[in-house]
Parts: sequence; C-alpha cells; structure tokens
Amino acid sequence: MRLLVLGTVAYDTVKTPFGRREQALGGSATYCALAASYFTEVAILGVVGEDFNDSDRELLIRHKVDLSGLSTIAGGRCFHWQGEYGFDLNTAVTLRTDLNVLESFDPIVPEHLREVPYVFLANMDPEIQIKTLDQLTGPKVVAADTMNYWIEQKRGGLLDLLARVHILVINEAEVRQLTGDYNLLRAGHRILSYGPKMLIVKRGEYGVLKITDDSVFAAPAYPLESVFDPTGAGDSFAGGFIGHLAGNGNLQPEALRQAIIMGSVMASYNVEDFSTARLASLSRQEIDERYRGFRRLTEFGDL
Ligand code: AMP
Repeated sequence: MRLLVLGTVAYDTVKTPFGRREQALGGSATYCALAASYFTEVAILGVVGEDFNDSDRELLIRHKVDLSGLSTIAGGRCFHWQGEYGFDLNTAVTLRTDLNVLESFDPIVPEHLREVPYVFLANMDPEIQIKTLDQLTGPKVVAADTMNYWIEQKRGGLLDLLARVHILVINEAEVRQLTGDYNLLRAGHRILSYGPKMLIVKRGEYGVLKITDDSVFAAPAYPLESVFDPTGAGDSFAGGFIGHLAGNGNLQPEALRQAIIMGSVMASYNVEDFSTARLASLSRQEIDERYRGFRRLTEFGDL
C-alpha cells in the first residue's frame, strides 16, 4: 500500500445556488481517496455507521480503495454535515454537524497498513491524527489538514501534530487564524517554524500557494463556467496532490509542482457536479487533458 488517508466518510446535505442534495456521499477521506485512486494504491482509515450504503462502499471498492481500516459501528450512524453556499462559493456556512459514529472513533491502523510510506491526515481532532501517526512505522511523507475549530479548541495538540508533519495543507483563513498574521507569506514562514517543511495554502477559486523556507510557487484554479458544488474541493486537491506524489515516488521540486497541478486538476473536476459524481467518473484521458489545460493557462515566454 502506498497511501493511507485518515478522515471522514460522511453523508452531506448541501445547498448551493444551483441545487440541493440530501444525504449524499461525502467526507474528507472519501474525496481524498477517490482523487488519489487515479494515481496510486490508497487505503482509508475511518468509521461509518450501519446506514452506510452498499452502493457507496462499492463505489470506493470499484476505485480499488482498501477499506480494511474503515470500521462499521453496529447501530451507529455515519458522520453527517449540512452546509450551504451563497454565490460566493469559496465559503461554506455550516448549518449542522452530527458527529454520530465519530464521537467514539478510536483509529486502529490494520497491521498490513502500518508501513505505508505516504499519509494524509484529513481534518480531524489532532489527538486522533497523532494516534494514527503513532501506529505507523516510519512514513516518508506525512501531510495534514485542520480547521478553525481545532485551531481554537486544541491548539496545543495541533502544535504537537505540526512538529511531526512534513506538509500542511490548509486554507488561507486558517493560516491567518493559526498565526494571527494577515500576510500569507509571513504567516506561512511562521507556520514552517512550527515543524512542516512545506505549507500549501488553499485559496478557493484563486488557487493555491506552496511556501517553503526558500521558495514560493503559485497555481491558479482552473477557470470554469459551471461550478455546482465546491464541497470536497480541498480534499480532492489533497488527494490528487499526495496521490500523485505517492504514485511516482519523486519528491524533487519539479515533481512537487506537478503534484500541485494534479491536485488542482482533481479539485476543478470535483466542483463540476454535486457530491462525488464527477470525481468518481473520470478517465485518465480527461485528467491529462486538464493538466495540459493548466499548462496553457500559465505558460508565457522569456523576455
Ligand atoms: P472540503 O470542502 O474539502 O473542506 O471538505 C468537505 C467535506 O468535509 C464534507 O464532505 C464533510 O463531510 C467533511 N466535513 C465537514 N465538517 C467536518 C468536520 N468538522 N470534521 C471532519 N470532516 C468534516
């Protein structure tokens, strides 16, 4: 196994200006693993309830996602998130979060996944992220996400986690909240002093910034005429990014940039439809075509 993704497998109720879906398949691990599945072998570590549909399980299995670390709690219900977007699709308003089975989640990494080289710890209680890391025998790349709630409520635990993470992938509001600095570059450098070697700042429809001690790389988001549902864009980005890295095993600067574009490709497809509909039905040809589209978008000659 190349990549382990810790995160939620959820049912989401989502309203955007273009429609509404109830109890649709979502969750950070779902989006991340589906995106990564186009590039590498991926396993999910998470928990679902008895209400998890066979058809959703089959969708993940069709994408060759290893579900041996996805436990089912008898009598329990899946994590449920309800959110809404206005015409500014960059910001979700959370209306409701039902932790359900997540409330008592104790992550146990199955024996055969403990030597995994690449790990993505999606947004979750930092204690659970750390407990997962503690069971791994020496991953080559650890990437993580977090959110405002943990920055506020579990700052100590989050800082302990950051000391053990190579790549932090968070959105720009979280960068500012974590550091108290409005300037992204300055704030980014401060975050690097907490432990990560690299920070990836997600900026919604404005793309991403990769910040290291001695470099900055910017990638735009793909200009799309029809965006239906931004839910999962960040996790699809993360899946495309780390999935591509895990697939080719190269961590040179150019490979990291390519992985960032691949993350952006997967996020751009994901937002074209509700839930996982678009992400689950892609072809390698479509992925490569949009990758080339990104190149054309930003190419310019020397002076
Ligand atoms: P994203 O749009 O990439 O930030 O992630 C959206 C996904 O995150 C949705 O499918 C939700 O099920 C999931 N999600 C929402 N809130 C939380 C939370 N507090 N903890 C973990 N996952 C969440």
